[in-house]
Amino acid sequence: MDPKEQKEDRSNLMAGFIPYGRQDISEEDIQAVLDVLSSDWLTQGPAVPRFEQSVARYCGVEYGLAMNSATSALHVACISLGLKKGDWLWTSPNTFVASANCGLYCDAQVDFVDIDPRTYNMSVSALEKKLIVAEQQGKLPKIVIPVHFAGQPCEMKSIRTLADHYGFKIIEDASHAIGGEYLGEPIGNCRYSDITIFSFHPVKIITTAEGGMALINNIELASKMDLLRSHGITRDPAQMTHEADGAWYYQQIALGYNYRMTDLQAALGASQMNRLDEFVSKRHAIARRYDELLADLPVTTPWQHPDSYSGMHLYPIRLKLSQLKITHREVFDALRAQSIGVNLHYIPVHMQPYYQSQGFKQGDFPEAESYYSEAISLPMYPGLTTDLQDQVLNVLREALQV
Ligand SMILES: *Cc1c(COP(=O)(O)O)cnc(C)c1O
Repeated sequence: MDPKEQKEDRSNLMAGFIPYGRQDISEEDIQAVLDVLSSDWLTQGPAVPRFEQSVARYCGVEYGLAMNSATSALHVACISLGLKKGDWLWTSPNTFVASANCGLYCDAQVDFVDIDPRTYNMSVSALEKKLIVAEQQGKLPKIVIPVHFAGQPCEMKSIRTLADHYGFKIIEDASHAIGGEYLGEPIGNCRYSDITIFSFHPVKIITTAEGGMALINNIELASKMDLLRSHGITRDPAQMTHEADGAWYYQQIALGYNYRMTDLQAALGASQMNRLDEFVSKRHAIARRYDELLADLPVTTPWQHPDSYSGMHLYPIRLKLSQLKITHREVFDALRAQSIGVNLHYIPVHMQPYYQSQGFKQGDFPEAESYYSEAISLPMYPGLTTDLQDQVLNVLREALQV
């Protein structure tokens, strides 16, 4: 097949298919990437700091550090907060595996806190109960990672109060949540946390293809993370153990990684930032319409905490299975068979074989498991027109057989 035919073939395959999420790329975004391609710098140029400043300014935080993924940013965040063998990291079971894996990368032990049945975020009362027991056992966590599931912020004020009492650090996994607010302030300002992480994977709110960012107010923490994202190498004389040997000189003073973002990616990200508010308000309009049109169906629509303005990354519904004649799996399959690219967020992390091999078992986090047995993420992205949304709703209505 020649490349042209192959392309048509692929678009035919995609024709009529409605994914659960997808990027929105404008002519301006394309031009921004092309401009970098004909510039002097493909990486380590001016686009990366420009993007970082744009996100940091938007969030009202001191420092933004762009990396090649949110996973990388979570990893260096954990190292910088001193996570090591013998320490504990706690997160939500209702998340992507990366929120937990970052703890294992540091040889720490990972545990989970069950979710709130209304927000599907880490439950603050479950967290408090678990902390009381952990204190008695001398196993308090060094780091807790609340995940702003579907873009809805966790109850950060209460989590901060617990952190001050029990002495743990907080990393917000805000991979779903750029553009959202908590108590009227932007998510990412780190008012209640040490570090906030965003992801720019194409299904997320804005994209850099692959990419992520860490937001920090503390300069020492920021410079540690800056070092770790680029091999642990510094060119700053103030950080060196002795005077530079010459103009060529740099020193490796820590064991770091190559977690850098390229200028191509950062230029795309900076251009996407111009439409962030528009993206989030479009997502909210789609959500409001789903809320209305699903009201008479045997499903639970996502509840929004009054303290939050969600980034609205996902629109997860829960099936009221006792009112249905068919199973969760059958509804999911019926939607997929009609080209509705629904998905399921998330398979509880402790149910993954790798985590089961670490000792977790079914029944450990019943709220997350019960949610998993009923949830379906409906298509949610700025380009989802009312016509496409009606198509989703028609197929869903049919699939539910009510
Ligand atoms: C997408 C996602 C990540 C990982 O992001 P990458 O940029 O793909 O590494 C981590 N946590 C959550 C909650 C996510 O949704």
